[in-house]
Amino acid sequence: MKTYTHYINGSFVPATSGETIDSEDPYSGEVWARIARGSGEDVDAAVTAAKNAMEGEWSTLNASQRGKLLNRLAELIEDDAARLAEIEVRDNGKLMAEMSVQTKYMAEWYRYFGGLADKIQGAVIPTDKADIFNYTRYEPLGVIAMITPWNSPLLLLTWKLAPALAAGNTAVIKPSEFTSASTVTLMELIERAGFPAGVVNTVTGLGDEVGVPLVSHKDVAKVAFTGSDVSGQKIYESAASQIKKVSLELGGKSPNIVFADADREAAVMGVISGIFAATGQTCIAGSRLLLQRSIHDQFVERLVDVAGQANIGDPKSPDTHVGPITTRPQFDKIIEYIDIARKDGANCVLGGGPYTGPGAKGNQFIEPTIFTGVKNDMRIAQEEVFGPVLAVIPFEDEDEAIQIANDVIFGLAAGVWTADIGRSIRMAERLKVGTVWVNTYRAISYTSPFGGYKRSGLGRDSGIDAIYDYLQVKSIWVATQTSTRNPFVIA
Ligand code: NAD
Repeated sequence: MKTYTHYINGSFVPATSGETIDSEDPYSGEVWARIARGSGEDVDAAVTAAKNAMEGEWSTLNASQRGKLLNRLAELIEDDAARLAEIEVRDNGKLMAEMSVQTKYMAEWYRYFGGLADKIQGAVIPTDKADIFNYTRYEPLGVIAMITPWNSPLLLLTWKLAPALAAGNTAVIKPSEFTSASTVTLMELIERAGFPAGVVNTVTGLGDEVGVPLVSHKDVAKVAFTGSDVSGQKIYESAASQIKKVSLELGGKSPNIVFADADREAAVMGVISGIFAATGQTCIAGSRLLLQRSIHDQFVERLVDVAGQANIGDPKSPDTHVGPITTRPQFDKIIEYIDIARKDGANCVLGGGPYTGPGAKGNQFIEPTIFTGVKNDMRIAQEEVFGPVLAVIPFEDEDEAIQIANDVIFGLAAGVWTADIGRSIRMAERLKVGTVWVNTYRAISYTSPFGGYKRSGLGRDSGIDAIYDYLQVKSIWVATQTSTRNPFVIA
């Protein structure tokens, strides 16, 4: 059985303690690999390597040379996309159909930010001061701690690593303890691409044992985190004590809003892709369906019909639509939310429990589940389930749709389904979320900013904005003439 180790200062090394953690295949339920169980000592070694790398060969590379390394990494990822996809599917149960596309697509982030690296320019500022020349330059922050969740380990890491390296920073990565194998494998490609030792490091292990000391390490300049809002808040609080920068990509309770004038069939497919793709284990899950009352019953009937035909089973099979839940604690949490919804009076019209039918193996499948009769103050409408559970809420008009949509603590994304272009623009303006999709859902690109409003987070991944989250601007004043002005008055 393979053991995935840390990667520190250009070497694959076991945990100092020698301890490991078992990694389970969520489909079969069997232990298929082990990962190093890191500690504060391992974190310190990795942060020291990353700090030293900031002063070494890496600092002598110009932005174009950093860009070339990122482009080389993109090529290696494309060449190895099938192997990376296989590991990810084995480790977290995502569909091969999705992962085989995602691992290839990931390369585009490294290309985009590789290309952007030497296009970041300071400015010459036309100030009001005669005889002083003022200009700005953008500089890297230093060592970036990158902490990622289990649902899309490689893609979510890529969203941080590509801009951070393009900007000239170094990295210490802590992947989820449930899904570390693909990140450690990526380190092989980092090495082959030619990044100097210490520029990218990975320490695997538990949140308390690796994440906590990493966030509080004095030599970490910024924490880039994707995960739950609860962990995000703890990280924010810890970082605050050292005035450390953070970016937080947290959870969501995104509304998919369907108006009566929408293309009905397209909207049904969009709602399904929002909540049952990736088995609902995605931050952008459209977990609240807001349906205009006049089409409620017909729409729900068609939705139940289509969702009820989803093939559940082996994530490796190209015919599978819904795979297993990635972790046992997550499985238990989803079942608990289904019980809560029932107790709160919601009406289960599809699924509603573990799936044990054809295609199921292990014991981590949950049926695609739909609740109607949901009120927006019920827990099933307010709290992130992170599973294949949809809450349907009726509305009368635009105003009520907006009121319900915005009445949650999260603000990650929203979908709007309508044939009225004016309405789509009005809705997009009024929704308090970081991403709005109109007549589509779950579209993302390396070119477009992604991130949350409200409790869904701080900062942006992807697009030009993202690189500035990994840079700081310096203002430089140069006297063009020497003067002996009054030293007791501001210049
Ligand atoms: P999690 O918060 O439990 O863990 C995420 C990572 O943080 C793991 O690596 C974990 O070990 C580490 N961690 C946990 N506590 C920590 C602490 N106190 N200090 C430092 N590190 C700590 O989240 P999860 O269960 O792995 O992932 C699911 C969550 O991630 C969901 O809430 C989902 O919405 C969110 N998510 C958000 C986005 C986004 O971009 N907004 C994307 C994917 C997932």
